Amino acid sequence: SENQDGIPVKQRLLVVANKLPVSAVRKGADSWQLEMSVGGLVTAVLGVKGFETRWIGWPGVNVSDEVGRRALTKKLSEKRCIPVFLNEDIVHQYYNGYCNNILWPHLHYLGLQPEDRLANTRCFESQFDAYIKANEMFAAVVNEHYGEGDVVWCHDYHLMFLPKCLKMYNKNMKVGWFLHTPFPSSEIYRTLPSRSELLRSILAADLVGFHTYDYVRHFVSACTRVLGLEGTPEGVEDHGKFTHVAAFPIGIDSNRFIRALELPQVRSHIKELQERFSGRKVMLGVDRLDMIKGIPQKILAFEKFLEENPDWHNKVVLLQIAVPTRTDVPEYQKLTSQVHEIVGRINGRFGTLTAVPIHHLDRSLDFHALCALYAVTDIALVTSLRDGMNLVSYEYVACQSSKKGVLILSEFAGAAQSLGAGAILVNPWNITEMAASIAYALNMPADEREKRHQHNFTHVTTHTAQEWAETFVSELNHTIAESQSTTKQ
Ligand code: ADP
Repeated sequence: SENQDGIPVKQRLLVVANKLPVSAVRKGADSWQLEMSVGGLVTAVLGVKGFETRWIGWPGVNVSDEVGRRALTKKLSEKRCIPVFLNEDIVHQYYNGYCNNILWPHLHYLGLQPEDRLANTRCFESQFDAYIKANEMFAAVVNEHYGEGDVVWCHDYHLMFLPKCLKMYNKNMKVGWFLHTPFPSSEIYRTLPSRSELLRSILAADLVGFHTYDYVRHFVSACTRVLGLEGTPEGVEDHGKFTHVAAFPIGIDSNRFIRALELPQVRSHIKELQERFSGRKVMLGVDRLDMIKGIPQKILAFEKFLEENPDWHNKVVLLQIAVPTRTDVPEYQKLTSQVHEIVGRINGRFGTLTAVPIHHLDRSLDFHALCALYAVTDIALVTSLRDGMNLVSYEYVACQSSKKGVLILSEFAGAAQSLGAGAILVNPWNITEMAASIAYALNMPADEREKRHQHNFTHVTTHTAQEWAETFVSELNHTIAESQSTTKQ
């Protein structure tokens, strides 16, 4: 399309996600300082070719006064961001409550602790009400900024109720919804009290996307079993309306990692690490410290490996970098102490006066340090019990052009579907099998390592975040065009 002067105007893409990709710090009554996040997802979505992107989401801070809200809105608009202001109570009930305490564990097959089960059942309704309310607030902001021809892309489990709210404002709005977590088996899904409302809302979208074909199947069978609708591998039909459902596996901005390895500060980091660990093989774990990452299982497998392979004592070290998340939640605090206890025990058991087998850090690393670690390590261990995709495995592969290290990857991470042929796949619940995989990886001949690495490297560099975003958005555009032409006929 063109404006009055005949200059082509780009179509607009409204990306709606719980959190804007910024961190905002208040500097005065009407002044704010912003820092943009620079992940692969952000770059990909902002860079979809042929589209001008606006980002709509919660700014991550509670702003209760009009002056502050107006100033922040203005500042955010410079970054093409539009805020959805949520008050503290809603954030508590919707975000901490329904999203993180109910949906997150549910989508990842984590049963609740027995003592939490009844408590959660009791507060379920108020938290679900807050979830609906928050989704309605997002919808109101989207609607306010929506213009004819815009494409709206809703992200993740925080906004399952959004497609329906948007279509109530305007049934012609082009709406896509993508889930970044797994979608569980329908047998798990159907225990969720609000199962039908959420499915019906997602089906209001024109295109629904998941990381893997397994998640697509689980979603379609949830629709057929819970709602009694007709499902095919391509989607779900509800009273003549067909919702397309498909797999769109995300990737990373692989060039950003490859380029970083050439930077002087990264090269000097690499050199330092090589000297520090010379004569030893190094294994790496990089995770948020979350239940889903299988960190205790990973460390126990390493212990079993050390037990069974005395020849390797003092010749191999595990670096586990675990960023703390949700540190205010007792279950996460328990996980942290559990991990510390296991690490302490193993280091006590297998350490010497000068070296320990496990270095465990409770913090995040900056991008350059992370790239250096990815580049120098011999093995990466990704042992998620469930994981939508797992981008750490992609980042490791992108940085391994010279070493050709081995990726040990859980079959329960979405990435197993794409990197399975190059990685060693493991069941993280089977400690014995994981210990054997560590031994296999440490002894793997160079030509096998090279072949496996090449396979994964080709995948990671050709299936980028950019390509993912463009495929989803163009399919969403296409889906609409198709359904409009069918209604006309
Ligand atoms: P999740 O989204 O569940 O945390 P992913 O593996 O998909 O899992 O993405 C994690 C992202 O966070 C990656 O980009 C990774 O580089 C980054 N990350 C994870 N742990 C750390 C850490 N300890 N230090 C720095 N970055 C980290």
